Amino acid sequence: MTTKALHIAKILIVDDVPEKLLALEAVLESLGQEIVCVTSGGEALRRLLTDDYAVILLDVNMPELDGFETAALIRQRKRSEHTPIIFVTAFPDDTHAHRGYSLGAVDYILAPVVPEVLRTKIAVFVDLYHMTQQVKRQAEQRVLLAQEHAARVAAERANRSKSQFLANVSHELRTPMNAIIGMTDLALEEALKPEVRECLQAVQTNAQLLLELLNEILDLSKLEAGKLSLQEVAFSLREMIEDVNQTFGFRAEEKGLAYTSKVSDDVPDRLIGDPLRLRQLLINLLSNAVKFTDQGEVRADIEVESVLNREAWIGFAVTDTGIGIPDEDQERIFSPFTQVDATSTRRHGGTGLGLTIVSELVQLMGGYRGVRSAVGQGSTFSFTVPLLLGAKAEPVTSETHQPQKAELPDLNSGQRAPLRVLLAEDTPTNQKLVVRVLEKHGHRVTIAGNGRLAVQMATDARYDLILMDLQMPEMDGFEATSEIRALPAFATVPIIALTAHAMVGDRERCLAAGMDGYLAKPLDIRQLIDVVEGAVKGARIGYPSN
Ligand code: ADP
Repeated sequence: MTTKALHIAKILIVDDVPEKLLALEAVLESLGQEIVCVTSGGEALRRLLTDDYAVILLDVNMPELDGFETAALIRQRKRSEHTPIIFVTAFPDDTHAHRGYSLGAVDYILAPVVPEVLRTKIAVFVDLYHMTQQVKRQAEQRVLLAQEHAARVAAERANRSKSQFLANVSHELRTPMNAIIGMTDLALEEALKPEVRECLQAVQTNAQLLLELLNEILDLSKLEAGKLSLQEVAFSLREMIEDVNQTFGFRAEEKGLAYTSKVSDDVPDRLIGDPLRLRQLLINLLSNAVKFTDQGEVRADIEVESVLNREAWIGFAVTDTGIGIPDEDQERIFSPFTQVDATSTRRHGGTGLGLTIVSELVQLMGGYRGVRSAVGQGSTFSFTVPLLLGAKAEPVTSETHQPQKAELPDLNSGQRAPLRVLLAEDTPTNQKLVVRVLEKHGHRVTIAGNGRLAVQMATDARYDLILMDLQMPEMDGFEATSEIRALPAFATVPIIALTAHAMVGDRERCLAAGMDGYLAKPLDIRQLIDVVEGAVKGARIGYPSN
C-alpha cells in the first residue's frame, strides 16, 4: 500500500435517490477522501464485506432494506461492527431517532443538511479513523518487532549451542592428538631405520597440522560462543616480537624471502594486555604473508597511533610482496572458510579460518582491522588495538607468564635430583606418555587411575609433586586435590592440573582448589618437563595452550 493510499479514508453514502447522493457527495468532496455512493442497503452491505469505511451516511427511508434494517445487519458483522453510522432523514421524528441510536448510530441528522455542519462532523470521523489505523499499524509493527526479536534470540541461542558443541568436540579430539604427537616425538628420539623415521616425521608434521586446525576451530567456536576471555598481564612488546621473529625469520628464509620487523622507537614497551593472543594475531598474518609470497619480502611494522591517559593504541601491519588479493575479495576473506582460490587444485593449503579469528579477536580486544592489496604486487594486513600502559620494568606475574625461550635453559640447568611424581590420570595413553617422558628425564612416576586412588596413595607415601587430571571417574581432580591438601604432609607439595578444558574459569577453579598451576592438553613434552622441574623449584607456571 502506498503512503498516499494509507492516508485516504473511505466514506460510504447510502441513498436510493441519486440526486441526494450527488448533493451529499458534493458537500463532502472537499475533505479529499474517497467517497463511495450506493443506492441500496443491499449494495452497501456488499461493499462492507470487502472494505473498511471511516463513516457511513445512511438514508432511513429506502425501498426493500430500509436504513434501520441495513444498520442492524452492518452491526452484526465483525468487520463493520464499530464503523460509525450517521442516519440522514427528511422526517423529524423522535421515535425514529431513538430507534436509530439504539441500533448504534453515532448521529441522526435532518435533511436538508447544513453543508458546513455535515462536513465538520464527517471530518471528525475521518480523523478518528486515521488515528485508529495508525494505532493498529503501530501495534502490528510492535508484534512484528517482537517476533523478529524472538527469532533472533532463538537463532543466537542455536548458534551458541553449535559453538559450544564444536568447542567440546575439538577438546575431545585434542586428547587423542596429544597421545599421537607425544608418542611420535618419543619414537623419533630412538635410533630408527631411515624409512621408518621418514614415516614418523610425516605423522608428526600431519598431526601438528591437524592440531593447528583443531585449535583454530576451538578458538573460533569459543569466540562465537562468547567464551573466550582475554588475559590482562604485563608484558614486553619487544620481547614478544623478538619471539615471533625467531619463528618467522626462519620460515621466510626457508622460502628465500627477506624478513624484517620494526618496532618504532616511540612504541611503549611495557604494556598490559594478552600477549599470547597478540602473538596469535601476528602469527596468523605472518603465516599468510609467507604462504602467499614467492619472492621479495615480508615485513612487520609496529607503530603507536595514539596515547591517551593510560591507554596506547598500537598499530600492527604485516606487508608482503606476494600474489595480492582482488578488490572484490578483500572483505569476503574475513568470513569463515573463505579463500580467494577455493578450487581443489589450489596451490596453497589452509582452512580459511585464520583471518576470521584475526577479525573476531581484534574486535574482542576493542580494536579494528584493515587490508590493502593489489593483485601481483602484494598485501598489507593491519590491526590496531588499545593496550594499557604498564609500569616501567613491572615484573610479570608468574602464574600467567610463559617463560621466554631464554629462560628455559635456566629452568633446566643445575643438577636435578630424581623426583617422585604421583600421576592421577585415567587415560592409558596419557599415563604412558607422562611416564615415559618423565622417566626418560630420570624421575619416578607412580600412577593412580582415579582421584580416590590418588588420595589413598598420597596417604601411604610421599611425593615431590602430583600431576592431577581434572576429569576422572569416581573422584575428579578438584575433589581429590582438596582431600590431598588436607593431609599435613601434602600441605605444600606442588599439584599441577592436567586439563583438556582450558575454558574460561578453569584456571581460577584449579587455583581455588589448591593447585599450583596447570598444563593444557594435548601435553607438550617440553612444557611437561619445564613445569614439573620448575614447580618443584618453586616457580608457579601455567601453560594454557589456548
Ligand atoms: P587460509 O590461509 O587458511 O586459507 P585465512 O583466513 O588466513 O585462511 O585466509 C583466507 C584467504 O585470504 C586465503 O586463502 C587467501 O586466499 C587470502 N589471503 C590471506 N592472506 C593473504 C596474503 N597475505 N596474500 C594473498 N592472499 C591472502
